[in-house]
Amino acid sequence: MKRVAVLTSGGDAPGMNAAIRAVVRTGLEVGFEVYGVENGYAGLIAGQFRPLGRRDVSEVMQWGGTFLGSARCEAFYEVSGRQEAIAQMEKHGIEALIVIGGNGSQTGSYALSQMGFPVVGVASTIDNDLAGTDVTIGVDTAINVALEAIDRLKVTASSHGRAFLVETMGRKCGYVALISGIAGGAEVVSIPEAELGPEEIAQAFREAYDRGKNHALAVIAEGATYNALKLMAYFEEHRESTGFAVRATILGHVQRGAAPTAADRLLATRLGEGAIRALARGEAGVLTGLRGNHVVTTPLEEVVNTAKPLDAELAELARIMAI
Ligand code: ATP
Repeated sequence: MKRVAVLTSGGDAPGMNAAIRAVVRTGLEVGFEVYGVENGYAGLIAGQFRPLGRRDVSEVMQWGGTFLGSARCEAFYEVSGRQEAIAQMEKHGIEALIVIGGNGSQTGSYALSQMGFPVVGVASTIDNDLAGTDVTIGVDTAINVALEAIDRLKVTASSHGRAFLVETMGRKCGYVALISGIAGGAEVVSIPEAELGPEEIAQAFREAYDRGKNHALAVIAEGATYNALKLMAYFEEHRESTGFAVRATILGHVQRGAAPTAADRLLATRLGEGAIRALARGEAGVLTGLRGNHVVTTPLEEVVNTAKPLDAELAELARIMAI
């Protein structure tokens, strides 16, 4: 194999730049030429390739986002779109593709690999909703942003005796909310895998005050049925009966753009290297991830057909620590 391409797809995640850098530098180390694809699958279909050398990836690791650009691409859902992508890669002499992205992006990589093109995925999303890896690139940074917000809100909550809701990103996966809740000392955590209704949250707040706490803070995952907006509507309607004021902070995209933490830079560097090593070994149709601090590959077929389970021990830990 001589020439490989790399792209970033789906939602941007802090650490994507470090992963591209590792793909380029390890690729050159093992004797590949590395091409960057601009704007994810959209750029792949449009033939937006450019060669990347060692110096092209200098000074990128410390920035959030992705210097190659990312995109959501409707055409890639269609066989015709993927055929065009393969035609473009063949035209440019590209023999394998590395896809840095989350669940949707790796479903796209699997679809492409099913058409006979060699693809290796790199697990990268702030949602941490990908099977085949303990953690994904970007999730540690997203948790640290949430934590900073929680720490500040707790100060205000304590001063005013107010209850706070903090909504974190993570789609249908509660990992970011759960870890932020444990590390931030939340009184209650509601996630899609273990949802709480508004009465249960109000009850948890009341119990926290009864136990002598001077603050009450709930971390709510955006994918919970009762997200922050719905909970606020409930608390406003039942202001008299709940007996305390509630404020909500929805973190949203603030969680995406931060400078990657050391953990994310290291993870991205290891997984980027792992993707090139997998191709050099002749592997394809796999995802590079981290399990038990080892870089491993898992067939994309297994990754896209497996839901990532909630760590029940962590959920229990959150409950015990909140009392
Ligand atoms: P994040 O969860 O971090 O936002 P993601 O990778 O899950 O990232 P998506 O928007 O779900 O982001 O997917 C990114 C792109 O992957 C889509 O716009 C589409 O081009 C491609 N894709 C997703 N699902 C499929 C599929 N089933 N078949 C082919 N391509 C797909």
